[in-house]
Amino acid sequence: MEPKRILIVEDDDVEAKIITHNVERLKHKVIGRASDAESALNLFKTQQPDLVLLDFNLEDEIDGSELASELIKLKNVPVVFVTSADDESSFNKILKVEPDGFVQKPIHPREFQAVLELALYKKEKERVMETLTQSLDEKVKHQTKELGMVVNSLVEQMAENKKITEKLEQALEAERYLGQLKSRIISNLSHEFKTPLASIRSSAQLIQSIIRKGQETEKSLKHAERVQDAVDSLTEILNRILLVEKNEQFKLTKEPTLIDVGAFFESVKKEMNESVCVDVSADYSLHTDVENIETDPKLLRLILDNLISNACKYSEPGGEVYVNMEVKGKKLLISVADEGIGISEEDLPQIFDRFFRGENVGSIEGTGIGLSIMNRCLDLLGGEVKVESTEGKGSEFKVEIPLDE
Ligand code: ADP
Repeated sequence: MEPKRILIVEDDDVEAKIITHNVERLKHKVIGRASDAESALNLFKTQQPDLVLLDFNLEDEIDGSELASELIKLKNVPVVFVTSADDESSFNKILKVEPDGFVQKPIHPREFQAVLELALYKKEKERVMETLTQSLDEKVKHQTKELGMVVNSLVEQMAENKKITEKLEQALEAERYLGQLKSRIISNLSHEFKTPLASIRSSAQLIQSIIRKGQETEKSLKHAERVQDAVDSLTEILNRILLVEKNEQFKLTKEPTLIDVGAFFESVKKEMNESVCVDVSADYSLHTDVENIETDPKLLRLILDNLISNACKYSEPGGEVYVNMEVKGKKLLISVADEGIGISEEDLPQIFDRFFRGENVGSIEGTGIGLSIMNRCLDLLGGEVKVESTEGKGSEFKVEIPLDE
């Protein structure tokens, strides 16, 4: 064992010499001798010994056991008591302090060597253990930190995966919607095109046979007219589709002008009564204190046309339709009510979707575009619509449009 630095605390000169002799015999170095507690503490602080040999029966204000606790508080070095006491109560006192060893006076060199080396060896091992524990602690801390980072990155990865799944689900939903839209368009349009095309075909065949027979009569003119009507009806359907398309590509715009509200309402009434509302009895009423209002007549017309033509079209022949328009302050209020086929609760939320047609429309013609056009016009005018409908009883569409100053 390499030489260690030993501090001796002993108030008896002779005993101190004996101890010094025994220490040096073991090739260790005595770095100082203190005969009282104060000088012991000073030497301990300045010399930093590796071990303290301490007289248990120190004749001072504090005894050996108290001094030992003070020293250990400063630095954890081994303390070995050297004592002449051999009674049980002194032993118990010594044991309470838990010293690193104790040697009985008079000193026996072999016993002294064994106690001293064992105390140094034990302390050395404790130090090694402490260092190991510290490095183990650090490793655990480091690994806990790394584990935390791995957990965090896993959590981030999971959040990322969730986002990707959500996006995929949205894409799938959009795909599903487009699929439904496609089949709606195909079924609506094929139905709408079939009747006029069949009529064109049969009329063309009849005109052909009339020409072959060389009998151009009133009849052939009638068939030619039918062809024209059928073509007009197809053109109308195509125009509606193009309007939706145009809205998407070039955007419908709002161009407000001052309009004569009475004249405007009259022209709507006239046109509707002459076309789609011929078979029903339509009741029109207008309430206004002002003559002119500022709005876009083209958009307003599209809104009224779609609502009134639907009310007439989805009513039984002879049914009643009520169209009300009112200028109230800075608002234009429109209500279109009918007593027709109505809309089921299930279909109601979808009627403004493009190409959607209710389950109960039967053979009533339509493309499912009108209300989506109307909705777009309302958006542009900053208005809103509310619908109340009972299947088999009728519907009421209420529109509110803010008027430009
Ligand atoms: P279309 O009338 O050409 O089918 P719309 O977009 O105008 O298309 O209307 C969408 C659907 O809303 C109609 O197919 C119909 O089922 C329902 N609908 C709209 N207005 C009425 C109404 N007044 N009475 C009953 N159903 C209506």
